[in-house]
Amino acid sequence: MIADSQPGHIDQIKQTNAGVVYRLIDQHGPISRIELSRLAQLAPASITKIVREMLEAHLVQETEFQDIGSRGRPATGLILDTVGWHYLSVRISKGDITLALRDLSSALVTEEQLPLPQEDSEPLLTRIINHIDQFFIRHQHKLERLTAIAITLPGIINTQTGIVHRMPFYPVVDMQLGPELEKRTGLPIFIQHDICAWTMAESLFGASRGARDVIHVVIDHNVGAGVITGGRLLHNGNSTLVEIGHTQVDPYGKQCYCGNHGCLETVASISSILTQAEQRMPSSPNSRLHHQPLSIDALCDAACQGDQLATDIIIGVGNSVGRIVAVMVNLFNPQKILIGSPLNRASEILYPAIAACIRQQSLPAYSSQIAVEPTQFVNLGTMPGAALVKDALYNGSLLVKLLQG
Ligand SMILES: [Zn+2]
Repeated sequence: MIADSQPGHIDQIKQTNAGVVYRLIDQHGPISRIELSRLAQLAPASITKIVREMLEAHLVQETEFQDIGSRGRPATGLILDTVGWHYLSVRISKGDITLALRDLSSALVTEEQLPLPQEDSEPLLTRIINHIDQFFIRHQHKLERLTAIAITLPGIINTQTGIVHRMPFYPVVDMQLGPELEKRTGLPIFIQHDICAWTMAESLFGASRGARDVIHVVIDHNVGAGVITGGRLLHNGNSTLVEIGHTQVDPYGKQCYCGNHGCLETVASISSILTQAEQRMPSSPNSRLHHQPLSIDALCDAACQGDQLATDIIIGVGNSVGRIVAVMVNLFNPQKILIGSPLNRASEILYPAIAACIRQQSLPAYSSQIAVEPTQFVNLGTMPGAALVKDALYNGSLLVKLLQG
């Protein structure tokens, strides 16, 4: 088609190729230009041109290395040049904000977690911007060239426009987070739902590296899932995660903040689990849960020590989550189910309950080989933001901006 040969299309190809070359150097470096040309399936002349631009921009560097199988003199290989480039990775969760400076290899330079109260006289946007400003001032002496800001948070987000429409825990209506930060800093801003970004982090750096089909279930303050299908994040570039938390598991259940009744989140979120434990404790006077402050850790520990009430509650959560995951298994036929949750402390009780549901309620041909495993990262820290930046380097979108200087 004629339209395909227009400049926009050529720019897109250039961006994609640059991203592929950068990813291959990251994953295989030190790597020779010849090997790069073979793996990228690009002509040697194209590799030479892309690599020259990256060398000039200080995004890659040359190094001598002994090529496998060659006994001769060392070859010239390419590796990434990452230390002179920093980005800010921010995570907002219930009651706190975590800010981190990382270099382009994703290595942590410095990280701070600060309180972000749910109610305050100042708007949330103003408070986030102040936190970022103050963080930069405090760490000015460590700062190298800034490339981007990545932010992950729970809520309904338009990842294209950077507008956060709604958030749990905070009174937010159409917060102009992306546009405002871009205006103030001139940097590319990446905003993504916390769970989606976490799924990407597990896929790039964590427990699902190399797996093509993965369901990542989060049971925490919120309940949701991220899906990797055919090696790609489902809904990538859109606003949504897989909202399993708002699937009805009990038609006669409690009303949820989404407006429906008996959502999975009303049964399996951390606060719902603790409320349930509180309600059931009076009828189990011998439970270990008495005589200590009630927390998820205490509940998990009691269950692992054989406490009947604690075990029943965790198996109940496993059954509710397992029913929904069984449906997802039939849709996506994954190799792996990853569980990200503070309940992983009692994985010996939770996982068999989830696995039993999957076995009994989904197609045997799909469910027989599935492993239920913990995520590598816990629901803390700023690795999800690091995944957004890595993804933007690999798909070329951020890389092209860095090449243009
Ligand atoms: Zn709901």
